[in-house]
Amino acid sequence: MKYAKIAAGILVLILLFFSFSKPGSHSETEFLMDTVVSVTAYGPHAKSSVKLVFERLRELDKKFNAHRVDSEISKINNAPANKAISVDPEVCNLLKTALKFSEDSDGAFDVTMLPISNLWGFTSETPKRPDEKELAAVLLKSGRHHLTLDENTCSITKAIDGLQIDLGAVAKGYAAEEAIRLLKEQGIRHAYLDLGGNIAVMGGKPMNVWESLFTGKKARPFRIGLQQPDAPRGTVMETVSLSDGYVVTSGDYERYFEEDGKRYHHILNPKTGYPADTQLKSVTVVSDNGTEADMLSTALFVLGADRMEHLQDRCKAIYTVDNRMNFKTVKPLTE
Ligand code: AMP
Ligand code: MG
Repeated sequence: MKYAKIAAGILVLILLFFSFSKPGSHSETEFLMDTVVSVTAYGPHAKSSVKLVFERLRELDKKFNAHRVDSEISKINNAPANKAISVDPEVCNLLKTALKFSEDSDGAFDVTMLPISNLWGFTSETPKRPDEKELAAVLLKSGRHHLTLDENTCSITKAIDGLQIDLGAVAKGYAAEEAIRLLKEQGIRHAYLDLGGNIAVMGGKPMNVWESLFTGKKARPFRIGLQQPDAPRGTVMETVSLSDGYVVTSGDYERYFEEDGKRYHHILNPKTGYPADTQLKSVTVVSDNGTEADMLSTALFVLGADRMEHLQDRCKAIYTVDNRMNFKTVKPLTE
């Protein structure tokens, strides 16, 4: 009888241990790529893998950040016209992808918007509505058609002086993809990354042993909250359940200023040089491809609800919030 009680006690302790024990995880957060980046990995090598991811992200920031004087992009931006500038192969590849996507999006996505963004001063302390003539003049000196990329030599040539590139609408998506690739290489099977609103998930969220015993599964989809525009960061409007893939949002609330009661935000219509005005406050795209998800959310924001159709097949799901704060599932997630 006494032994039975001890055995029962031990059994209870074991069950309690298993029900509370969660698979080990490691998280780190750092300010990179002009935003807050958080990486959480689960499993035995989580800590060393997350450290490796941040090393890689720092490397990518150094290559792609147009606001860093030592970046590969600044090398292109500071170069004169008609001079072939050799760039890092990774930069060359991402630029090639971005230029191809510009065509696919009918010019809604354009990596040469930096001089116009600077004129509006979105990243400065004193943003302002620019003079119309000045804007028209800078617009003439923008446009992807003024860029030539030679894949064989990895070099870029600008047809006009002053043309400047900004990969801000695609680099975070690419970086998220790179981070997931690296984590997989390290043997990590479950992870959650947030690169300033670009979410990447892998393998679902691991369950503890007790939950696994009940459900017969090792993980459940991550629940990703979609930001409510203009509400404090973290205010969730809807949630998306996803085990593997990328969820990227472009919104008019990310970077903006107001003048005479009107909001001017950072996502520009390359045809006008003005902030895209398509009655949308945000567009969220779900995709298996991080780079595409990032480019798509920006392009769909510029195109607006009426002109999204030709890019819809490239998204696994699309959600929008309009000016009246109406949430809409443009394309539902079916997995
Ligand atoms: P995202 O938050 O990914 O939509 O990217 C917005 C950022 O991309 C802006 O802050 C600009 O740096 C840049 N950008 C603005 N308009 C465009 C555009 N039409 N195509 C590509 N990049 C853009
Ligand atoms: Mg984007």
